[in-house]
Amino acid sequence: MSALEVTDLTVRFAGLTALDAVGFTVRPGSIHAVIGPNGAGKSTCFNVLSGVYRATSGSVRFGGADLTRMPPHRIAALGVARTFQNIALSRFQSVEDNVMLGRHRLTRAGFVGAGLRLPFARREDTRHRARVRDIARFVGVSEYLDAPVGMLSYGVQKRVELARALAMEPKLLLLDEPVAGMNGGERRAMAEVIVAARADLDISILLVEHDMGMVMRLADEVTVLDFGRRIAAGTPTEVQRDPEVIRAYLGV
Ligand code: ADP
Ligand code: MG
Repeated sequence: MSALEVTDLTVRFAGLTALDAVGFTVRPGSIHAVIGPNGAGKSTCFNVLSGVYRATSGSVRFGGADLTRMPPHRIAALGVARTFQNIALSRFQSVEDNVMLGRHRLTRAGFVGAGLRLPFARREDTRHRARVRDIARFVGVSEYLDAPVGMLSYGVQKRVELARALAMEPKLLLLDEPVAGMNGGERRAMAEVIVAARADLDISILLVEHDMGMVMRLADEVTVLDFGRRIAAGTPTEVQRDPEVIRAYLGV
């Protein structure tokens, strides 16, 4: 398994340094959280890791490959999958079809072949749909497979998004605020799925999260950002006690 290594990552927008020489390592098989107040640079970091934003300087390496300037589809092909802070699903399509989109990179015949109903493509499609049903069961959305995503509760939609990312069979999963906007029950359900994904599917997880309690329960290691700078790093217990972290969160 491979580690994700982020070194001296800097991202500047016009007149603003969103990330300032940030570094951390996600060890294989671990859950690493990046936390920090609003505007700290968490989503920017994700957007660089997934190829959506370009780093101004610094580097991102994963399993021997330099991802720093790769386009999103090549990063995905290396086994890095992500979810978004705001839901990015197709509301009118069914849960099954949305999760199926995650299989795209694994489909040899592609959607064109499937559309033409070529025998090979049809067999492949059947195999992928079986896997989609397994993943739906894993995240607990089996009963909604045929429902249009827009009809479902927010908590279920977020789990469908996770299912779509898992459908890519990733080695590294990037989760951007997976429990934001959820109620207590939805948070617990999501936390269980995240823990199970790491344990059962052999993947490393980078979790960006605002909810400290969630991070304390889930993360092996934590990196804390504030105004684009790394202000602390360590185990959840270590960072929770850090005066810099307390100050950043209380805004004093
Ligand atoms: P977080 O996810 O930690 O809340 P973000 O990474 O979204 O923080 O934002 C960090 C800073 O970068 C903020 O000041 C934000 O306004 C700025 N920022 C983020 N994306 C852009 C962009 N595309 N253009 C300009 N500024 C941006
Ligand atoms: Mg954000």
